[in-house]
Amino acid sequence: MPRVVVVGGGWGGCAAAAAARKAGAEVVLIERADMLLGTGLVGGIFRNNGRFTAAEEMLEMGADIFAVMDRCAIHTNVEFPGHKHASLYSVYKIEPAVREYLTGLGVQIMTNARVIDVAKEKDKIVCVVVEKHEPVRGDVFVDATGTSAVPANCTKYGNGCAMCILRCHSFGPRVSLTTRVGVEEWIGKKPDGSLGAMSGSCKLCKDSIDPSIVRELEEKGCALVPVPEHVREEEKLLSMKACQQYALPEFIENLVLLDTGPVKLMTPFFPLEQLRKIPGMERARYEDPIAGGKGNSMRYFGFANCTPELQAIGPVDNLFCAGEKAGAMVGHTEAIVTGSLAGHNAVRKAIGEKLLRYPDELAVGDFVNHVIEEMKKEEGRQYKYTFSGSIYFKRMVQKNLYTTNVEEIKKRVHNANLKDIFNTKLV
Ligand SMILES: Cc1cc2nc3c(=O)[nH]c(=O)nc-3n(C[C@H](O)[C@H](O)[C@H](O)COP(=O)(O)OP(=O)(O)OC[C@H]3O[C@@H](n4cnc5c(N)ncnc54)[C@H](O)[C@@H]3O)c2cc1C
Repeated sequence: MPRVVVVGGGWGGCAAAAAARKAGAEVVLIERADMLLGTGLVGGIFRNNGRFTAAEEMLEMGADIFAVMDRCAIHTNVEFPGHKHASLYSVYKIEPAVREYLTGLGVQIMTNARVIDVAKEKDKIVCVVVEKHEPVRGDVFVDATGTSAVPANCTKYGNGCAMCILRCHSFGPRVSLTTRVGVEEWIGKKPDGSLGAMSGSCKLCKDSIDPSIVRELEEKGCALVPVPEHVREEEKLLSMKACQQYALPEFIENLVLLDTGPVKLMTPFFPLEQLRKIPGMERARYEDPIAGGKGNSMRYFGFANCTPELQAIGPVDNLFCAGEKAGAMVGHTEAIVTGSLAGHNAVRKAIGEKLLRYPDELAVGDFVNHVIEEMKKEEGRQYKYTFSGSIYFKRMVQKNLYTTNVEEIKKRVHNANLKDIFNTKLV
């Protein structure tokens, strides 16, 4: 039985592990922190806009990790500015549910296990070196380590370490397999040329905000709290926010709040003194990042050069990329789309079968193939791509790939001959 080693337990790595296991491999999933899901531990939004179509295509192909997300949803069909039919998962319930799902499939999970190097023989990685553990051998490897900055880069390109969920100071910063073996990597740039970008939301403690806002949030999933003009002005001077998908006037005129267990505040950070001037927020307190009044995690450092089949292009022949590592594809849904393909193709590679490429007729195919092509261009690397908004969602609508008609989506997958592909044992 081939052995697939997945490094990084975010949504990309979890999806890769599930797909590789379902295709018949023995799978080890290695995560440096004590919980799986990485940045997914503080996210929660899915099925919004084109993510609905992508999730349904993936479910039809057998990527039932989406069903775990659905089971952990505490709100469905939520509307907030620029976004329709969103589901919100509980960030408190999701990690144990995903861990149970993967364990149930027979994936071997190693947490508190940080990969720090690889060992190669000719053009193959033979094992990964794991801090305080024995080396882990494998036939094929998946790099799902994400693109988060190490703390020095959060200081250099952001507002310093904001003490986010990644907890680099406790578990050690990210290390990529692609860097270790010398695959070409790119750093995402903002339109002004500066490097990286700040993550787009923070979490506030429910107990610290006005109970009437909490009631509205728990009832509808979303609440808009108007930001008085004078706070808006002061805040504008203080901030250096960057987020393409939420760059709408409603997000400046209001605090857009979502209920994901804690209160998800849809802005990278908001100075606490200004936040507390807003009616209802006088006692607000950050839950994540702890220094959410000052900054947030920096990301998009280290996208790797890979093919549309998600094989890393470079000196080794047995490495695949999943999640943000595979390109500027942002979001949980997006990470599962690439993770599932990378994990499935890792098994194909191990047994010498032709690699799978998502067809352009599927939304997920157009997305992955288009973004991988854009990543090869300097200007293409200035953008972030997501089914949920900004430039890719526009393209998705123009190409008639966005639909909420589940029967139509099923037909599409059937016509592409890919129904249950991720449930098919290859070994
Ligand atoms: C604050 C915030 C809010 C967000 N909200 C949403 C949202 O609501 N909806 C949405 O769709 N998207 C959201 N996103 C984006 C989304 O979370 C990511 O795009 C997506 O989940 C990325 O998944 P990933 O697996 O590629 O990377 P990551 O989530 O970064 O996971 C990478 C994992 O690899 C591990 N790792 C790194 N190096 C090593 C190593 N050497 N050894 C072992 N393990 C290693 C890390 O610990 C981490 O767990 C949010 C992101 C942030 C930061």
